[in-house]
Parts: sequence; C-alpha cells; structure tokens
Amino acid sequence: MTDLLADDALPSTLTRARFDRLDGLVTTAVDDRTRRAVTEVFTGETAATVTECEPADVEYAVERAAAAQERWAERSIDERTAVVKRLHDIVLDRQDELLDLAQLESGKSRAHAFEEVLDVALTSRYYGYRAPDMLATERRDAAVPVLSSKAEVVHHPVGVVGVIAPWNYPITLAISDALPALLAGNAVVLKPAETTPYTALALVELLREAGIPHDLVQVVTGDGGELGPALVDSVDYISFTGSTATGREVAAAAGRNLVDCSLELGGKNSVVVLDDADLDDAVEGAVGACFTNAGQLCIGTERIFVDESLYDEFLSRFVAAVSDLSLGPGYEYGVDVGSLASGDQLETVEEHVADARERGATVHVGGDHRRDLGPYFFEPTVVTGLPDDARAACEETFGPVVSVAPVAGEREAIERTNDTDYGLNASVWTTNRDRGRAVAREIDCGTVTINGGYLETWAAIDAPMGGRKDSGLGRRHGKEGLMRYTESQTIAARNYPVTPPIGVQSEWYARALTASLRLWRKVPFLR
Ligand code: NAD
Repeated sequence: MTDLLADDALPSTLTRARFDRLDGLVTTAVDDRTRRAVTEVFTGETAATVTECEPADVEYAVERAAAAQERWAERSIDERTAVVKRLHDIVLDRQDELLDLAQLESGKSRAHAFEEVLDVALTSRYYGYRAPDMLATERRDAAVPVLSSKAEVVHHPVGVVGVIAPWNYPITLAISDALPALLAGNAVVLKPAETTPYTALALVELLREAGIPHDLVQVVTGDGGELGPALVDSVDYISFTGSTATGREVAAAAGRNLVDCSLELGGKNSVVVLDDADLDDAVEGAVGACFTNAGQLCIGTERIFVDESLYDEFLSRFVAAVSDLSLGPGYEYGVDVGSLASGDQLETVEEHVADARERGATVHVGGDHRRDLGPYFFEPTVVTGLPDDARAACEETFGPVVSVAPVAGEREAIERTNDTDYGLNASVWTTNRDRGRAVAREIDCGTVTINGGYLETWAAIDAPMGGRKDSGLGRRHGKEGLMRYTESQTIAARNYPVTPPIGVQSEWYARALTASLRLWRKVPFLR
C-alpha cells in the first residue's frame, strides 16, 4: 500500500482497513482483476488502489441486481421509504467519513463537500416522504364517464437502472439519482467516475447499513470508455451525468436499445445583473456562483453580463471580493476554494486562460497555477474584454475562470446569455422580482435563479431540474425525477359496451354517437 496511509498523513477516517473494506463492495465476476490508482488530489500522490472492473463484471452486476430487484419490487412502499429515511440520518451522523473521502478524491474544500451531504439529506427526506403519493395507482377518466369503463394507471419499476456519475460532485451525483430509482422499486448498478470510486462505495456501504438489500445496489469501478457502453447495453434505464460529448454516445446507445435515458450534461451559465440590482447582493452571489467547487460545477457561472450603468462599480467590487478568497488544501473547514480535481482539468483551465490572454483579454485577478499549494491548484480568475470566439467565451471551462462584460440593457443581456449551445442554468439579479421572472422566461435554460446563483433552484428539490439544448435531456428532482424510473401501465375495466350492440346498424350507431359527442362537449362536468 501507499506511503500516505502508512504515514498517517490523512484524516483518521481514511485508513487502509477502510479502503480494503470498501473495495470489497465492488462487483466482479472473478477475483483476479487488476487495480487502478486512486489519487489524493491535494498532493497528487496515490492514496489507495481500487478494483479495475471489466465489461464481464458489468454483465454480472446487472444479473445480480435484476434478481434482487424482483424481490425488492414486492416490498411495500413503506418498507422502501423506511430505508431512505434511515439513510438521511446515517449520512448526517457519519458525514465526516464522506467528507474526508470526497475531499481526498476531488480536492474540493470542506464547505463545498458539505453541500453534497446536504443534498443527499434533502433528497432522502423529500423522496422518502413524497414517493408513496407519487407512485400510488391513479384513477383516470374513461372514454365515456360512468358508462364505458374505469381506467387506472399503475406505476411499475423499469427494472435495473444504470447510474453513470462524474467526479465533480462524488457524493451527490453517485447517490441522489439512485434514491428515487430505488424507491420506485428498481435495482441500481452504479458506475462512478474513475477518480472517485471510494466516495461512491462509502455511500453504498451506508445504504446497506440503512437496510438496502445486499445485491440491489451494485458498484462497478474502472474505465468509463470500457464499462459505460457495457452498462448502457444491459440496463433498462440509464441515468447519466457528465459531459455533452459522452452524453451523445450514451443517448445513441440507449436509442439503439430502445431504453429511456436522462442526460445531465455540461453548461455555459451566465449571471445577469440588471440596472436595478442590489450590488452588494449581486457581488456576493456571483462569487459563490463562479467559484464554488473551484468552478467545477455544471450549474456554476462562467459569464457575467452587467448593465453598463453598474458595470464599473460591479467589476471593482467583484474583483476585490474574489481577491479575498482563500485557496488551499485542507480537510478542515475554513478554506474558501480547493483544488482542481486533476491534471486534465488544470490543462483545460490553463489553455483557456492563455487563449484569453493571447486574444487581448485583461486578467484582473488570478490567472495563475499555484504549484506551491498543490499540483492542481488554480487561482480564482476574473477576465474582461474576452472576445466572443475565445475558448473561455464559448466552451465550458469547468474551472475558476469567469468573464465579465457590460451590456446595454436587458435585451442584450438576454441575447448574450442565450448565445451558447448550452442551456443549463442562469441567474438574474434585480430588485424587481416580477421583472426578474419576465427576463427568466426569455432565457433558454432549464433553471433560472432570481437573486441567487444556483443554490435556490438546486435546493428547490420539489421542482424539476435539468438542461435544454446541449445541456441534456430529462429532469432530476421533483415528481419528474422519480417517475422517469417507472413504466406506466393503463388498465381499463369495461362497465358497459361502447361498441354497437348486436343487431343495431352501424350507421344508426354512428349517428347516435355523433349526436352524443356534440352534446357531450356542452356539458361542463363531462368534458
Ligand atoms: P465524462 O463524460 O467524461 O464522464 C462522466 C462519466 O461517464 C464517468 O463516470 C465516465 O467514466 C463515464 N464514461 C466515460 N466514457 C463513457 C462512455 N463511452 N459511455 C458511458 N459512460 C462513459 O464527464 P466528466 O468529465 O466526468 O464530468 C464533467 C462534465 O459533467 C462537465 O461537462 C459537467 O458540466 C458535467 N456535469 C453535468 C451535471 C449536470 O447535472 N448537468 C452535473 C455534474 C457534471
């Protein structure tokens, strides 16, 4: 094993015994798989290794999950919700174990990791209490009220759900999409990102402690290019979160197999500051929107459009606030911004900043790799004068880099916000909420927050969340986030025949029905 574990250089929850135990939860068809290194991001050193699954393991995991699913679906909804409610308490009680692992594998600050714990608790509580009503059999209108039939809609589980997760929110994105799937009576096979397997395994361990049947949730760890397609090809529904490029491949495979999928993909999100905005609030909100998780947040902000009347004042206050952010490693609370998650992320961020500089943009604060803090730290960075064709203007940077630009009023702000292939999230700052709502409706994004960065829409867990345009398909959260994992079945029981009785000529029957339909439309309670 590694020096890191031997030297006790890590928090006390991160022991060799714990890594070994969690690795034992990975599903493999045979015992002799190779291993993949898992890095402590703050130092770039190997902390542990994890099983490298192969496609045969995916097949085996799906088989086991499918067998467990049949038994789980027979359990009452109250038994299923009891597990998720218990998870709520366990995750809050054992949060330090999760925070330490998520920080190790992603390099984020403790406060940003805590947002993930919060999300799991909110999701568990919300679906734990609301799922029974959402899943209850519904009565629907029959063809001819009273006379013809009674219709009911039953919501069956789809079967085995594949959850493919990225590395940026290793706690939230490994489990929060799985919980509604489980409550709906499904099994889950989870494929976490290559770099964050242990956080996902720790969540599955807690789920088992909460009472989830052993085989119902399977985890396969390893290379996404190998395991992802195998998973998409063998499950009944795929819940994918990741890049738009991979999302397209997942959608194409799901289409070939005729299975449904939801795709939560990338973004190029904007903050819009209107001429009547409260500047103190807007500056504070924009800092959080841009630099939470070092900018590696799908709904985080990379572009700010400020009404020209407020531009100079906003920029100087924003730059001052960004300069005050602390950057660094640490498993304690107190550091504002953590590391980028990997060398790949660092490379993209450096390329975008270099490209911006070459094209004449001005860097007001930040702009540098902080090798002195750790291998992947990059300073929170604010640029202006970014040309529209610069990489940081049109591609997702997914790092701590934001451009600020003046706009001549609301119309230009909306047009520039919409001038991207993405459509994930935006935020509008104004002291007039009605105006904010009107502007929001013109923005082509799945979510828009008024006077907030992203937290308000994300935490409004009863409301659907997802992307438009290249930012995705389908929605998580709310009733939509659960019903996606169900197959509806309509059962109509006939009361009286609506076909012509034997002996009645079809023509007479058609005339009678035509007259009835005309009358029917005029009777309010029958419409
Ligand atoms: P990615 O697409 O590279 O990887 C995501 C997951 O897909 C990983 O588990 C990976 O192993 C797996 N994968 C890789 N190749 C695959 C294939 N051919 N088939 C199936 N799965 C495959 O994305 P990433 O770099 O891990 O994540 C960053 C991206 O995720 C950013 O674009 C970000 O905006 C997006 N994201 C979106 C949301 C959202 O809710 N919309 C949330 C977080 C991140």
